[in-house]
Amino acid sequence: MNKVLSISVCIVIVLCSCNSHKKERVSNSRSKTENEVIVDCHYTLSEAIAGSKAPERVLRQLKLIDVQYYSTDGKIHKGQVLTNKKIAQKIENIFRFIFVSKFPVAHAIPIVKYKWNDDLSMQANNTYSFCYRDISYSRHAFGMAIDINPYFNPERWKAGYENRIDKPIGAHYDPKQPGTFYRMNPVVQQFKKQGFRWGHSFTAKYDDHHFEMQE
Ligand SMILES: [Zn+2]
Repeated sequence: MNKVLSISVCIVIVLCSCNSHKKERVSNSRSKTENEVIVDCHYTLSEAIAGSKAPERVLRQLKLIDVQYYSTDGKIHKGQVLTNKKIAQKIENIFRFIFVSKFPVAHAIPIVKYKWNDDLSMQANNTYSFCYRDISYSRHAFGMAIDINPYFNPERWKAGYENRIDKPIGAHYDPKQPGTFYRMNPVVQQFKKQGFRWGHSFTAKYDDHHFEMQE
């Protein structure tokens, strides 16, 4: 009888210990998943500039930086920003602020993914800096501007320009939506502190997703 009892006790101990190991494994794998970084893109510099019509002297000014952010799914993502070397450090500083304050960025992917098409990139709510276009006025042509969450912060034409089309198509501005900009928004304040001009103050339109640096 004693022998049977002692065998039973042994079996119970073994079962309990297996169970606790199992629990530990589950909790480890869960915390790993929570900290997992989702990679939105991983271009090399030559891949990120492939197909650009920019002359060599402009391409030489560019730098590809890695950035991390919380996306709209609440998870940490890694993206990239192709930008001008002159503002790369400032963009990194601002993204550090964006990350710490958990301001959501949908995703930041060099516009090569959207075949250098600003409309497609905006429609996808994509954040990017360099795109060689409209060189007479666009600071994006030299990587000296950045657009963040354009679908949450659409460009809206001001009084007197109502016949023009707001973009991206279908988007509408709701400042209560996380990831939007408004005058006292801390990310807007950070951009201003770093010397950027906010597109909200443009003459013809509220270009709320746009921040740019003069020379
Ligand atoms: Zn812009």
